[in-house]
Amino acid sequence: MSRDAGKFQDVLRRVQAARADHIGYPYNLTARSPVPAPLSHCLINNVGDPFTGSNFGSDVHDLEREVVHWFMKLWDCEDPDTYWGSVVASGTEGNLWALYLGREALPNATLVHSDAAHYSIAKASRILRMPARTVATLPSGAIDIAALRQVLTDVGHGGVVLALTCGTTMTGAHDDIADALAALDTSGVTPDRRFVHVDGALDAMVVPFLSEAPHSIVPGFRLGIDSVSTSGHKMIGTEMPCGVLVARRSYAARVAETIPYLRSDDTTLMGSRNGHAVLSLWARLNAHGRAGFAADAGRCHANAMGFTARLLAAGVPARHNPFALTVVFPQPPEALTRRYQLASQHGLSHAVLMPSVSDDLVDRFLADYLDWWTSADRSVAGSGA
Ligand SMILES: *Cc1c(COP(=O)(O)O)cnc(C)c1O
Repeated sequence: MSRDAGKFQDVLRRVQAARADHIGYPYNLTARSPVPAPLSHCLINNVGDPFTGSNFGSDVHDLEREVVHWFMKLWDCEDPDTYWGSVVASGTEGNLWALYLGREALPNATLVHSDAAHYSIAKASRILRMPARTVATLPSGAIDIAALRQVLTDVGHGGVVLALTCGTTMTGAHDDIADALAALDTSGVTPDRRFVHVDGALDAMVVPFLSEAPHSIVPGFRLGIDSVSTSGHKMIGTEMPCGVLVARRSYAARVAETIPYLRSDDTTLMGSRNGHAVLSLWARLNAHGRAGFAADAGRCHANAMGFTARLLAAGVPARHNPFALTVVFPQPPEALTRRYQLASQHGLSHAVLMPSVSDDLVDRFLADYLDWWTSADRSVAGSGA
């Protein structure tokens, strides 16, 4: 075996071993790519605006538009022609670009987000040099609407770019979108002085499929929001990091500059863009379909409730927010945190019951975790209750 082939073998073994025990990140590791292998040998570059195309021939802008339309339907756009969207590099790029679209429309606006918002939101405020205000959260991790109203009273006069979260990273909490919009109204921040983005990296692909979820937490443009983004490698399960952003078309039109040599509009952060991510998204959405994702969401949500119940039955103070796939519990010792790849902070860890988390993996994890939990030296090993 050549040296390179040996390296690739090592990487494959490492990835497969890591996947077998993975329960901590919101990544769906199930998917076998339905994209035909020969395509992986071609450069596929969706340079330029998805709706305008470019002079470069090896693109899949047509498939990108189909992907974007799929999400326009899922997120309840009244009329797709008045919306714009694109496939992005990850949930982070979706957030950054959405907040940029908001800032360009409202140059004096303050960025408002909760203290449980993803770190990419605060990073975007630094990159965009936007003044930012953080709003306190409830114990669940959802934005505190009374605290939001207070902040809006302070900064609303200059305009507001509000970043809400559908499924916070640590506790899977859902900001109440309808209540936040009502708070903007009652604080006098009229629609012409606000831009509302929903960061739905994980759960904008989960809660629309849970029929019992209240409408007010489900990202839907009919509620009066301006953009939504999600990650492709989380619930959808693409084999590379990517994401999707949808926004009202007027905001994209405002930043579009026509680049004659490309024969395209400059409406995206990246110039060259990953066509393989588009192929992977398109293939997953078509092969799995709404019914497949609805089945995944229902099963994973039930698994998260079952997982929580088993921890509670053993006396572990586990927490699970309604309609979340995320379960929070005291952080176990380092060896378990590493083996199961648990994201942890302030003595708490979480598991995310993604489609690729098998019953067998849940059983193994809980056996190891409860072994530690019931052991005499728990207080020495970890954070305790
Ligand atoms: C994961 C996550 C992101 C970032 O998405 P990436 O695809 O990792 O860039 C943003 N927001 C939330 C709430 C997330 O959970």
